[in-house]
Amino acid sequence: MSLVDRDRAVLWHPYTQMLTAPAPLPIARAEGVWLYTEDGRRILDGISSWWVNIHGHSHPKLNAALAAQANELEHVVFAGCTHRPAVELAERLIEILPAGLARVFYSDNGSTTVEVALKLALQYWRNLGQPNRGTFITLHNAYHGDTVGAMSASEDSIFTRAFSRMTFPVQRVRGLEDMENRLRDLRGSVAAVLIEPMLQGAGGMIVWPKDFVAGVRQLCDEHKTLLIADEVLTGFGRTGKMFACEHARITPDIICLSKGLTGGYLPLGVTATTSAVYDAFLSDDRSKTFFHGHSYTANPLACAVGLASLRLFQEEPVLANVASLERQLRDGFERLRALGDVRVIGGVAAVELLSDKPGYLDGIGPRLAAAFLERGLLLRPLGNVVYFMPPYCITESETAWALEQIAAVLHSSL
Ligand SMILES: *Cc1c(COP(=O)(O)O)cnc(C)c1O
Repeated sequence: MSLVDRDRAVLWHPYTQMLTAPAPLPIARAEGVWLYTEDGRRILDGISSWWVNIHGHSHPKLNAALAAQANELEHVVFAGCTHRPAVELAERLIEILPAGLARVFYSDNGSTTVEVALKLALQYWRNLGQPNRGTFITLHNAYHGDTVGAMSASEDSIFTRAFSRMTFPVQRVRGLEDMENRLRDLRGSVAAVLIEPMLQGAGGMIVWPKDFVAGVRQLCDEHKTLLIADEVLTGFGRTGKMFACEHARITPDIICLSKGLTGGYLPLGVTATTSAVYDAFLSDDRSKTFFHGHSYTANPLACAVGLASLRLFQEEPVLANVASLERQLRDGFERLRALGDVRVIGGVAAVELLSDKPGYLDGIGPRLAAAFLERGLLLRPLGNVVYFMPPYCITESETAWALEQIAAVLHSSL
């Protein structure tokens, strides 16, 4: 039996309608931006393996860091114990994060970093004697993950509707004015404002101006509430700066990091806070403790690869590569403007397809994905939004090739 047949007999894939989905790609190995299938095909990873990979697959330095750590310490409980990889990664993160973020809490994926942020915000106000601050303000088109809190904070959609009995209500707003009005109406009851700074990812690759992000910070200050920045996608260079908050020169009270944190190697999450947030949990009163943790909190293997990934940012011109990638993406996607709305930031380019042929855009994502794959390019359009988000190590000629495939497929199918 082929690997795909064996997969079909026992597996259930994420975000996949198992009845109708095309056969999964059997990936045997990967190197740089390329995935190699069991049946000998070579496919360019145009989505950084769900937005996590930044330095390319099977990077020799990341491989070495992982192997070395496995020989020292693979894992140990992180309540009551500590270890060098966790300490050094936290130290390094605090050096490079927006000034003022001073404490690192580990968990193991993007959704849990958001879950932790929401719980921290609620308990922060409770510990300060303001338990009525329990409402969250989020943005329309937001995506913050798939656990219950993260799902509640995300846009209400086909992804979350089946679970409406378990999600909690949040206040969703569309822009600064809307947010200001809502903060005024809800005076004294907002725990935090939660945003994806600069770029809303899964909601459709929507790029926001930096003035918006700066404005949100200002509103949170005026209304004395917390700002949570979900940088699970945008962290580690994806928008051209190390962190998207740097575009607006702001520091959130709480920041969520995951995807690129380990270069795409291992699941790891960080929720980092200011000292002000952290200090509210220090007490002789045991009920003020943050009671949250996961079995694999601060996994040493993941922390060691995360550190090696951050070293690559120092040793190699990683952010300069993102800047040249951005220029090339602007040129390439500019030529798609006739097909729809074009948005480019850092290493992400998107075109939101528009069509006057009625019903034409229905189910277009999977059809386009199949056409890209036929040409050796892995993309997963979000509905009618076609985006390209490769690892930063992609070469100029590989990008040029991918841009050609995108233009050819879009022009022949629209
Ligand atoms: C992917 C994503 C998450 C969820 O991360 P997982 O690791 O998939 O749980 C949260 N927020 C944003 C902005 C994301 O893009």
